[in-house]
Amino acid sequence: MKIIMLGAPGAGKGTQAKMLAEKYGIPHISTGDIFRANIKNGTELGKKAKAYMDQGMLVPDELTVDLVIDRVQKDDCVKGYILDGFPRTIPQAEALTKALSGRGEKIDAAVDVEVPDEAIVTRMSGRRACVKCGATYHIVYNPTKTEGICDACGDALILREDDKPETVQKRLTVYNEQTQPLIDYYKTLGVLVEVDGTKNLNDVFADICAILG
Ligand code: ADP
Ligand code: ADP
Ligand code: ZN
Repeated sequence: MKIIMLGAPGAGKGTQAKMLAEKYGIPHISTGDIFRANIKNGTELGKKAKAYMDQGMLVPDELTVDLVIDRVQKDDCVKGYILDGFPRTIPQAEALTKALSGRGEKIDAAVDVEVPDEAIVTRMSGRRACVKCGATYHIVYNPTKTEGICDACGDALILREDDKPETVQKRLTVYNEQTQPLIDYYKTLGVLVEVDGTKNLNDVFADICAILG
């Protein structure tokens, strides 16, 4: 099963992707997590990516596409994978389609988690993230057992630099301009699945599972 998660920043892609990855026993591949790990480790890629991320802009396709194409060819991806946060532009989607079709493969489903812009800022300001394992929580909607500590791995949680309301606005604009067109792209390919992301996270998960089987 090869699944892509679509949806605005903060729609709940990462939350659902983690649950799906566990259900199907396939890796959850988040480009945001990969960039944040590189920033934490002070790599060249991390330095370049940070300049864009802090401003709410997309990291250029040249720094993103090869990274993902290489990642999905790793051994742990033979049964499939969940791509979260990639593709985010039409050129990224086209590069992925081309790389897969070159190997006789294709994406099985692109899940669009729909949440209106108004609900996004509240979600982002309450989001807490674990850079170590990629888990995300919300101080009201999905709290941790111990405040500030990741339930999954015990690391300290952070409030992401780019989750400040001003940056969130910018990211929403970027999403509407550059990523929204992917919804039609995957609709045309016949793999689009649309779910109401305003429901609570277990109901969203049940809706996705009912469609994917
Ligand atoms: P969110 O989960 O809120 O949508 P992500 O963790 O997916 O955020 O991404 C955080 C930031 O990382 C983005 O705002 C962007 O700067 C960068 N990024 C992540 N994935 C991509 C991508 N596929 N193309 C370009 N930039 C990306
Ligand atoms: P994305 O990966 O799309 O940026 P996340 O999965 O990180 O989004 O979710 C953004 C924030 O909203 C997190 O704080 C998360 O705990 C919370 N959240 C996710 N799904 C829901 C939901 N269905 N209802 C309420 N809050 C949610
Ligand atoms: Zn963790």
